[in-house]
Amino acid sequence: MKYIKGESRSTSDGGCVLCELAQTGVKRDRLVLYNASHCYVVLNAFPYTSAHMMVVPHSHGGTLLSQNAETLRQMMDLLRSCEEILRKEYNPNGFNLGINVDRSAGAGIQDHLHAHILPRWEGDTNFMTTVHELRVLPEGLLDTYDRLAPHFHRLEVC
Ligand SMILES: [Zn+2]
Repeated sequence: MKYIKGESRSTSDGGCVLCELAQTGVKRDRLVLYNASHCYVVLNAFPYTSAHMMVVPHSHGGTLLSQNAETLRQMMDLLRSCEEILRKEYNPNGFNLGINVDRSAGAGIQDHLHAHILPRWEGDTNFMTTVHELRVLPEGLLDTYDRLAPHFHRLEVC
């Protein structure tokens, strides 16, 4: 779960970056792909693989217990949509999905819950990644955004 480190950021005034993105709405330069009633989808700015996305509740709170059932259901609906879109656009062999609760479990942003989904391909964990934790990304973030955004335009979750 080391791929989740590196996302630790706060806003310029020390606020919660995931709360700020919740207010942003769909916006290319902030990498926000989709905004639903309770959650949104954003590209991870520090991806482990290309097209590493996060599904994030609008509401601040770092645990499953801090979010209501409707929000958690929508998180799962959106993860399902992400899987579908990634399958269409990137043709991966598999996926990693994960939620880290609290810093001791590896959460970079510990006070605001977020679920990771990233596509995996056979052989994408190469020697450099495994041994040196270097990340070799074949695609720029905005290029990824432009590939995924049309799929989200067609999405109607809620
Ligand atoms: Zn927050």
